[in-house]
Amino acid sequence: MPRAAQWPPKGSRQAALLARLDIHRSEDLILHLPLRYEDETHLTPIGLAQIGTSTQIEVKILSCEVTWPRRQLLARLRDEAGSEIVARWINFYPSLQKQLTPGRRVRLFGEMRGGFFGVEMVHPRLRLVDKGESLPRTLTPVYPTTAGLGQVTLRRLLDAALETVPLDEPLPIAIRQRLALPGFAEAIHALHHAAPNDVHTLEEHEHPAWRRIKFEELLAQQLSLRRAYNARRAHEAVRLPPCRTLTHALHERLPFALTSAQRRVMDEIAADLAVPHPMQRLLQGDVGSGKTIVAAFAMLQAAESGWQAALMAPTEILAEQHYRKLAAWLDPLGIGIAWLSGGRRKRERDAELARLRSGKCLLAVGTHALIETPVDLPRLALAVVDEQHRFGVRQRLALRDKGAAGVRPHMLMMSATPIPRTLAMTHYADLDVSTLDELPQGRTPVHTRLASTARRMEIIARLKADCLEGRQAYWVCPLIEESEALQLKTVLETWETLKEALPELRVGVIHGRLKAEEKAVAMAAFAAGELHVLVATTVIEVGVDVPRASLMVIEHAERFGLAQLHQLRGRVGRGTAQSSCVLLYEPPLSGTARARLKVIFEHSDGFAIAREDLRIRGPGEFIGARQSGLPLLRYADLERDDALIEPACEVANELLANDPEAVEKLLARWLGGREGLLRA
Ligand code: ADP
Ligand code: MG
Repeated sequence: MPRAAQWPPKGSRQAALLARLDIHRSEDLILHLPLRYEDETHLTPIGLAQIGTSTQIEVKILSCEVTWPRRQLLARLRDEAGSEIVARWINFYPSLQKQLTPGRRVRLFGEMRGGFFGVEMVHPRLRLVDKGESLPRTLTPVYPTTAGLGQVTLRRLLDAALETVPLDEPLPIAIRQRLALPGFAEAIHALHHAAPNDVHTLEEHEHPAWRRIKFEELLAQQLSLRRAYNARRAHEAVRLPPCRTLTHALHERLPFALTSAQRRVMDEIAADLAVPHPMQRLLQGDVGSGKTIVAAFAMLQAAESGWQAALMAPTEILAEQHYRKLAAWLDPLGIGIAWLSGGRRKRERDAELARLRSGKCLLAVGTHALIETPVDLPRLALAVVDEQHRFGVRQRLALRDKGAAGVRPHMLMMSATPIPRTLAMTHYADLDVSTLDELPQGRTPVHTRLASTARRMEIIARLKADCLEGRQAYWVCPLIEESEALQLKTVLETWETLKEALPELRVGVIHGRLKAEEKAVAMAAFAAGELHVLVATTVIEVGVDVPRASLMVIEHAERFGLAQLHQLRGRVGRGTAQSSCVLLYEPPLSGTARARLKVIFEHSDGFAIAREDLRIRGPGEFIGARQSGLPLLRYADLERDDALIEPACEVANELLANDPEAVEKLLARWLGGREGLLRA
């Protein structure tokens, strides 16, 4: 990594402060762009200055004293026109008092206020000047900074960097003209040394210089993600030919017809698996869109060629449910499945492990128990991760590395939290994305209602009537993030209350503190229709599939995130009965809480909800642990700068194909040494 001559600038303390701002090289400083500007390009006579605005004045010092008993430094000043003003400092060093000797000429910059002593400035910025000293011609930038690193120091460092760092132009002129983008050097200078007339468009990030920077940032992101994709793709993987006898047999046996989206996505995956390079695919599909069967076919494709496939799920309940589904589909074809979860007895576990180690058993389903040390999958060719956002990068990599040394399995990541298009095109550009955009036939839309907690008794009465007619219901307890103990207490109390209020009904409970076995028993009883009502925490949030359950009550719905509410609501509406979901909220609702509940109330489509969620909360939550350590976009905004995303993708393709030098330049400039993280 080339370093500018005077880096680190002045001693290691300063370098450490800069590192806090993620500035490690002078190239990083160049891209440390102003938050806003101050206008010191002209002087305002005191008599014309407006109260409440930042102003620069030039004055002579009349007097200066430290007052008592309230200790402050008080200076009286007068400008050329004879108007007077007071400047006050409540915190000051003795050196400041020394500078303020009567008769000297100073420029003060600060906010004009009407005070006890007449017009005043409190803690103005001060500079001693000679008569007629020239004014700056550009705006004074104000940078994001950290305690201990002043604006003056940052500005000085920046000016030095601007003189030494070559501002190379990586974009061919044809591309710049096509997109009407200024040159890089021009844009950088316009931002650090801004012209007074540009202040508005600069601060609003609408200036052409900002467009250039945001475009380049998006472009660098594309390039790094695409390169990471290519690097992973260059590894070898097992070629798994599609469509053999067993695949046909499974098709024949399915109790339902696949949706056309499922068929399309299965073809995409089957084609990927047939290539001797690792698949890196994200399968996204709304709650209930039928991702599990897609995974089953992919796993079968591996098994049919004599290779292993593993499916990892984030919770015991989900892993067990997957195990049961896969077994129902694949057992009849003579394909055995091992099931690994933390809750299983040692003897059972050891038997499963031995089957997998010998390579006799080809399919494995489990929780993160799958990635623990004793698990050995010598012929692993496909790894499937369900609800992938629930796992960290490390866990996904651990599953990938379960196979024989040197063989990279194909990876299929599944997610029910749909990723809005702009996000998929940017932060997920290192994956291929398959989308199930269709729900199986015969689903009845869930009828959603909002009700204040005041109507709790009424809701319970309705629930009773419905359950006596043979329906089943989930009752979801409020989320209490601060205290697990309190959460548990609430669940148990709710359970007691409902049991009391509904003596005719069988009411069960399920929560995170139960042992895996106890959870399984409760889930099984509910699935078998032995329980009418299941009081639950969010342990049922992901993937739980009980088609007969058609009612859901969510208490304190305002405490849940949008994606969570959508997931929860997706637990009903899986059968043919009309399903309903009641969102109980505690009034009064805050503005955002109201807006969020409205989104859930108005939309049933996961994509629309995800788009709204992205708008309300920003991309951080979506990306989560996926790119931990990698900088998010600093300047480009996915919503505001939507129009730049597609051109950035196109230009990335052009440069990757024809201009390796430009690619290197852009990556070095924007990512420095941080690219390694993505390579894995
Ligand atoms: P998700 O995408 O949320 O993981 P699942 O794979 O759990 O969805 O599927 C939800 C339910 O729909 C399951 O009971 C599954 O067997 C069923 N299913 C899947 N595909 C179809 C289909 N094409 N037609 C009818 N039912 C289907
Ligand atoms: Mg699922």
